[in-house]
Amino acid sequence: MKGRALLMIPGPIEFEPEVLQALGAPTTSHVAPVFIDAFGRALERLREVWQCPSGQPFVVAGSGTLAMELAGANLIEPGDRALVVSTGVFGDRFEDLLSRHGARVTVLRAPVGEIVSAADIDAELGRERYKLVTVTHVDTSTGVRMDVSRLGEISHRHGTLAVVDGVCSVGGEELRQELWQLDVVLTASQKAIGVPPGLALLVASPRALEAFGARRRPVGSYYADWTKWLPVMKAYESRTAGYFGTPAVNLVAALDVSLGQIVSEGMETRWARHALLARAFQAGVDSLGLMQVPSKPAQRAHTLSACYAPENIEVPTLLQEVQSAGVTVAGGLHPEIRTRTFRVGHMGAVRAADVLATLGALETGLRRVGHRFDVGVGVAAAQRALVS
Ligand code: PMP
Repeated sequence: MKGRALLMIPGPIEFEPEVLQALGAPTTSHVAPVFIDAFGRALERLREVWQCPSGQPFVVAGSGTLAMELAGANLIEPGDRALVVSTGVFGDRFEDLLSRHGARVTVLRAPVGEIVSAADIDAELGRERYKLVTVTHVDTSTGVRMDVSRLGEISHRHGTLAVVDGVCSVGGEELRQELWQLDVVLTASQKAIGVPPGLALLVASPRALEAFGARRRPVGSYYADWTKWLPVMKAYESRTAGYFGTPAVNLVAALDVSLGQIVSEGMETRWARHALLARAFQAGVDSLGLMQVPSKPAQRAHTLSACYAPENIEVPTLLQEVQSAGVTVAGGLHPEIRTRTFRVGHMGAVRAADVLATLGALETGLRRVGHRFDVGVGVAAAQRALVS
């Protein structure tokens, strides 16, 4: 019997064996030709995955929060105005982070499960002169997906930079940085990018770099300063070594492998796979009689599902039962709904079989905690979505 549970949380996810092999390979020098090659190729592949040939990729050791910091620290100067569009915990984190860098922050905060409309963003950007606006593409605390396809155009009309937190979207949700004129799209390695936690990833547009170049004051964070990292990224991409802080050699090697897999699957195919698997899983949850946090099905993420547990059921007990049935899912995160919700990740290497197994384990757990439903309806609804 397989000795471990299937990991279906919204990051870290299950990783491909080739990626883990690269991670476990003997560590090379960070100036070894083989590593220079892997880093250079990973940077090129980042542009492909982000769909941003003109962008400048950054790969820095740290988590997704460092990627947020790389955007905020380099683009904000004390006194600048920033607009934060918040659809959950990670929007709120950006408010905190940008304030720490001296920004005067205004927040457009959606009620839990809702989005902020493009019209409201447009109107607010017209009210004040904002240096940047941040939007969380998929907020992992609510499972809500924002439409960011017009964000760049709207922002630029007001002379504002568009920053997208894509930590729970890049590599899983349709995202076309250059076509959509997004100035920064950031993520971390452990979600749909398919590499264990430890890398902050970001692509900056020429417009973002221009704004950075026009700064009047040095960047407040030493480690996050693009001045330090730009020469390093340029060096590796032109196949020479650079140094500011020692690169996470094994993680970068694993990133190269994973991005190679993503590019060979093809972005359109990958986005469609995530959309199909999400549709199937979410159809299963609906038919089990559970509510989902996003108020509109069209705004449900393709990378994770945030679901309400049945009334009067303790979420930790339910999750323990699901775990005993062989699948690990996550508890709630958003403070307003934490105790009533659970979250299931379905991104990266996920397959139809994983979605069916997860619904099977969820049915077992729900049965054991006393929820009433016809056994098999969740799995059947997902299966119908998969084969139709
Ligand atoms: N933004 C979003 C949307 C996230 O889901 C997360 C992590 N769950 C973060 C930012 C922060 O990333 P990390 O935990 O890697 O610092």
